[in-house]
Amino acid sequence: MHNTEARHAAAQGSAEWLQRYDSSLMGVFGTPQRVLVSGSGCYVEDADGKQYLDLLGGIAVNALGHAHPELVAAVQEQLSTLGHVSNFFTSPAQVLLAERLLALAGAPAGSKVFFANSGTEANEAAFKLARRNTDPATGRTRILALDGAFHGRTMGALALTAKPAYREPFQPLPGGVEHLPFGDIAALTNAVDESVAAVFLEPIQGEAGVRMLPEGYLEAAREATRSAGALLIFDEVQTGVGRTGTWFASEGVLPDAMTLAKGLGGGIPVGALLTFGEGPANLLAAGMHGTTFGGNPVAAAAALATLSVLESRDLLANVRATGEFLSRRLAAVDGVAEVRGSGFLIGIDLDGPFAPATVAAALEAGFIINSTGPATLRLAPPLILTAEQAGTFLDALPGILHAARAAAAPTPITGTTEGKP
Ligand SMILES: *Cc1c(COP(=O)(O)O)cnc(C)c1O
Repeated sequence: MHNTEARHAAAQGSAEWLQRYDSSLMGVFGTPQRVLVSGSGCYVEDADGKQYLDLLGGIAVNALGHAHPELVAAVQEQLSTLGHVSNFFTSPAQVLLAERLLALAGAPAGSKVFFANSGTEANEAAFKLARRNTDPATGRTRILALDGAFHGRTMGALALTAKPAYREPFQPLPGGVEHLPFGDIAALTNAVDESVAAVFLEPIQGEAGVRMLPEGYLEAAREATRSAGALLIFDEVQTGVGRTGTWFASEGVLPDAMTLAKGLGGGIPVGALLTFGEGPANLLAAGMHGTTFGGNPVAAAAALATLSVLESRDLLANVRATGEFLSRRLAAVDGVAEVRGSGFLIGIDLDGPFAPATVAAALEAGFIINSTGPATLRLAPPLILTAEQAGTFLDALPGILHAARAAAAPTPITGTTEGKP
């Protein structure tokens, strides 16, 4: 064990760590819910020795759960062989990963990959690609995204992100981005003309609460962008790499570019921008974009191992079957108003604004879940989650919702019944 310092320090309890966190970490995330010290499979353990079933997977990241032996071995082997080289050089792992991703995406000749370290960075590269899709004759400066969109937090990615609370403190953002009404095909086709450089879409909006686009939307976007000469760019940072039970949620509609990150490295930071066909990759010429870490051999080896385990264990079939089971059973739970999503990306609307209280009650009961809004929960578990593990959550959920509803209810005025009608 090389992380003896962390292990030794783990002898401290959560309270001490949280105190030290507060005095040393920037407050952008608020106070962390727990201090986690180890994980194995779909379970993690906190600094007080309590275990949790992880139904969030580090926000759709831990595709293989925690400490998966094949991922650990691949990273160890690559790191002990060649850890980092800069992009003055390449490595077999980087080339193999690019080829593998293009093959999985069914990419036609001329398709290319740019590696980054996160979803935001992959989208930032896509934003620059979009800016380069200019045409002196038409101007072609507009970039379209959707209401509810989340594409990241750096300035370019933030310009694509819709949420006013994220945007407003950082005005002025890079210009030219317009947000269209969510899921409105007519609004989209009306907006896309020769002044549009690119349209950015999440096939399913994850951060907005697992919002599904209507049937035919991606196809309509493909048609409209193709005839206007605009790029169609799918942000599959959250939905890609098996999360929805297929390699990509947009399967069947080929965009001009696609971004990936979250699940791709199984927990090691890696992002990718894929461009499809002969045209788009040439928009970014030598020297126009770059990165120090992007495509480094360790991240590439982690992604290759993740993809290889997903395939060899037929985990996409598990995501489809167990996801369907979980969603169907969730929809039958008292207090659940609606269940949305695909595979292991599941949004749950409750019948009242007690989602944050539900997250807290679930933690108490030993389950990690997430809320994306006052009445909406999200599950994005490791793709190795079994039906039996999912069943333990389903069994516990009625009690969790009961506790959450009580905790979230306004405190009744006690000690008097005066004034009651
Ligand atoms: C998480 C997310 C991002 C940002 O990815 P980071 O790795 O956090 O930078 C971008 N787009 C979508 C759809 C996401 O879910």
